[in-house]
Amino acid sequence: MTLARAAPSTHELGALRAEVRAFLAEARAAGAFIPRCDSWISGHDPEFSRELGRRGWIGRSWPARYGGRDRDELERYAITEELLAAGAPVAAHWFAQRQTGPLLLRHGTEAQRRRFLPAIAGGDCYFAILMSEPNAGSDLASVRTSAEPVAGGWRVTGRKVWTSHAHKSHFGVLLCRTGPPGERRHEGLSQLILDLHAPGVTIRPIRLLSGESHFSEVTLDGAFVPDDMLVGSIGNGWSQVLSELAFERSGPERFLSTMPLILEFIDAAGPDCAPETAETIGLLAAQLWTMRRMSMEIARALAAGDAPAARAALVKDIGTRFEQWSVEAIRRVAGREPAPESADRISSLLAQAIAASPTVTLRGGTSEILRGVVARELASR
Ligand SMILES: Cc1cc2nc3c(=O)[nH]c(=O)nc-3n(C[C@H](O)[C@H](O)[C@H](O)COP(=O)(O)OP(=O)(O)OC[C@H]3O[C@@H](n4cnc5c(N)ncnc54)[C@H](O)[C@@H]3O)c2cc1C
Repeated sequence: MTLARAAPSTHELGALRAEVRAFLAEARAAGAFIPRCDSWISGHDPEFSRELGRRGWIGRSWPARYGGRDRDELERYAITEELLAAGAPVAAHWFAQRQTGPLLLRHGTEAQRRRFLPAIAGGDCYFAILMSEPNAGSDLASVRTSAEPVAGGWRVTGRKVWTSHAHKSHFGVLLCRTGPPGERRHEGLSQLILDLHAPGVTIRPIRLLSGESHFSEVTLDGAFVPDDMLVGSIGNGWSQVLSELAFERSGPERFLSTMPLILEFIDAAGPDCAPETAETIGLLAAQLWTMRRMSMEIARALAAGDAPAARAALVKDIGTRFEQWSVEAIRRVAGREPAPESADRISSLLAQAIAASPTVTLRGGTSEILRGVVARELASR
């Protein structure tokens, strides 16, 4: 199912952005959230997600019959940018909107779409992504979690790890082995929708140094998954996952995670800032502009049904390196030390950004793997 529609005019997009910004300013003033870096992972707030759902700002480009608003992909993109730049708490619905929705639109059954998409668009139903395992991260084809066929469905056994927000989600999309690897190791993999509250599912949140828990270890001990929760076809999991990864890697969250810090830094610098500060702002703006153009182009390609894996990998590699660089550049010229509890916004945002910085080039695929994807694509031309 492709979602390409007539593009909104600049005026329409501007009006939508203004509406989102006004809402965010009001919510912030009312104390509904404090802007934070990396808010698409660290800002988990179901009430906020439900409010976005009520406003039609989740799954906006999906068909109305599935709870969407039938709007162009550019509108979804503009809303996403505004939410990330504001450091708004969007983690609860993030993975479901970003990749489960598009996955179901492409490969789901009609019953799956009708059941899950309206609930996702309403900000009510959250999904986790169960791909990585203790011995299968970069090399996803070596996943060992297996699904054994039983009457009416599957019994699933195995262990997943680093699963973002599994402990706060309702369902997970599970990549598992439903058959032996054939000549190509990628054969025999399938995707199942797993009820994270089903018997046989144990979720153990993993605590970070900061005391927060964003991801979990998920142990599956004979958990039952009914037949109708198979996504796509049996054995087609690998190619489905590849197209899902393009959604996962190309979005603006891959270069806007530190935007609340960047905006605070620019505000504090003011128009008469030192030359070194002005130069840093110029470098930040120039890089952001380029990445944004790449990412928006890919969003259009995805909406048209393409799976631009190499371009998406490039956005993530360049974007996450930019995020790491932006933290160091601001730290160098802002003359502040990171301090999580500080009332000084640059100091507290710096602390958040520094804590997240090592993870950005790992989650969603490491830089080395992404460069391998790009190299393979270039070599095949
Ligand atoms: C914050 C965060 C959130 C995450 N959320 C999720 C989630 O929701 N769901 C999920 O499924 N996973 C999630 N992950 C897991 C993430 O996808 C993996 O950490 C990542 O794919 C790397 O796998 P690994 O940790 O097993 O490292 P490994 O694959 O063991 O890699 C270790 C190192 O070896 C390098 N390396 C490996 N293979 C090669 C190669 N062929 N060539 C060159 N270098 C190589 C890697 O680049 C890396 O530097 C998350 C990770 C983080 C940090």
